Amino acid sequence: MHLDDVRRLTLGSFVRPAEETQTGAPRVEAVYGYLVRGDRGNVLLDTGLGEGDAETEAWYRPRRIPLPAALATAGLTPADVALVVNCHLHFDHCGGNPLLPGTPVVAQRRELERARAGDYTFEHLVEYAGSRYELLDGEAQIWPGIHVVPTPGHVDGHQSVVVECADGSVVLAGQSHDTASAWSADALAVRARGLGHEPPLPSAPVWMERLLAFDPKRVVFAHDAAVWEP
Ligand SMILES: [Zn+2]
Repeated sequence: MHLDDVRRLTLGSFVRPAEETQTGAPRVEAVYGYLVRGDRGNVLLDTGLGEGDAETEAWYRPRRIPLPAALATAGLTPADVALVVNCHLHFDHCGGNPLLPGTPVVAQRRELERARAGDYTFEHLVEYAGSRYELLDGEAQIWPGIHVVPTPGHVDGHQSVVVECADGSVVLAGQSHDTASAWSADALAVRARGLGHEPPLPSAPVWMERLLAFDPKRVVFAHDAAVWEP
């Protein structure tokens, strides 16, 4: 695998209302999936915006690009997806899962349990004909060179993916951070001592050190088109 074997799929957008942005203004957020053309087949991180209830539709005003159309931009069909990983199971990340019956979905066990407990996501996106989960309890190398690393924060069961390529590693952060800038701030916080700064210093999530240990050449996000590079 090479860095260019990882590509972004645009799956739609929604409008986060002013009540949720702390800026006084609504914010348009893109929804991205990431396709890894791996040695054993195609792995897809996140599958797009699911159909919500009327209240959710009115609140977020989503515009969807159906998963088959998004995959077609890469010359693929849903049948070409061998494995799905969801960074978490909110409706804007697992919306296309029901279009991939029988395809294993990798999630943290605690995340699926949370999703099944209710008032978290939409049941039809989690329990559908042909749903099949591969549940993890922590970090795992799911395929050679493809790692899943727990990155709790946005939700307890959040996870990110690291792909080790011949020309460097790429982190598919998902929603570990809303923006590349937020990642950058945490990466600097981790490295502050090494840069010679004395306390007091900001703290970063403990898992940042784990992700940075892969020495990523590129980090990409579920809701930000910006890319972090070291
Ligand atoms: Zn999200």
